[in-house]
Amino acid sequence: MKKLIIFDMDGTIYLGKDLIDGALETFNYLNKNKIEYVFFTNNSSHSLESYYTKINNFGIKCSLEKNFYSTTEVLISYLKKNNIKDIYVIANKFLRDKLTDFNLIKTYQKDIKIDAVVAAFTTELVYDELRNAALFLETTNAKFIATNRDYRCPIEDGLYIPDCGGMCEWLRLTTGKVAHDLGKPDPEIINYFLDKYNLKKEDILVVGDRIYTDILVAVNANVDSVMVLSGETKLEDLKKYDYSPTYIISSIKELPDLLKKI
Ligand SMILES: [Mg+2]
Repeated sequence: MKKLIIFDMDGTIYLGKDLIDGALETFNYLNKNKIEYVFFTNNSSHSLESYYTKINNFGIKCSLEKNFYSTTEVLISYLKKNNIKDIYVIANKFLRDKLTDFNLIKTYQKDIKIDAVVAAFTTELVYDELRNAALFLETTNAKFIATNRDYRCPIEDGLYIPDCGGMCEWLRLTTGKVAHDLGKPDPEIINYFLDKYNLKKEDILVVGDRIYTDILVAVNANVDSVMVLSGETKLEDLKKYDYSPTYIISSIKELPDLLKKI
């Protein structure tokens, strides 16, 4: 029996404002059988409270402290593990305020050495931030770390806005440096949960609707995955990829039946 399920949210548990049919029953089943679950998002730009409020309002049993994670937590854990202290950060104030254990360098100066340039999805971007980051990347051996590689972020009405991956591409074109991405599909997030919950790989299951993030992170970390067909990736899309989910179900409604079998 699996001990921890890592859920994607949009397209997996809800579609926009609507809870996917059967989701509530699935979470009741998990609670009854003491299977732990967490919700993980690549978006580090705002508080997890908005996700918590949404999931809680659907009637799903959850705690803000215990069940919700974003690349913010993964980033902090990665920086500490790698002994990275002096950083130049491009991010919303929300994320910068979370980085109190690090020395945030304010601007580029010729004689300052830093450990890393950190890039995150930001809706508060100003050109000077890109300039400073580019100059540090060009003139020092600073690592280049990104919270996620998503090129675009979905908003209402099927539209998209630029995300962290696009910004990192701009910096790559300027400096030739390629960012190390931490969000899905980087296996670092699975390692984070393995450490935090003290689990083995076979204890973990990743459930999501997007093959190139949700499923690929599981493939990269060598853990089992379930693709739900209720969101972005459709069954016919699967042949375009040279990797595949461990299991495929039509929606989260079928998860309890699957868990009884595996
Ligand atoms: Mg999704």
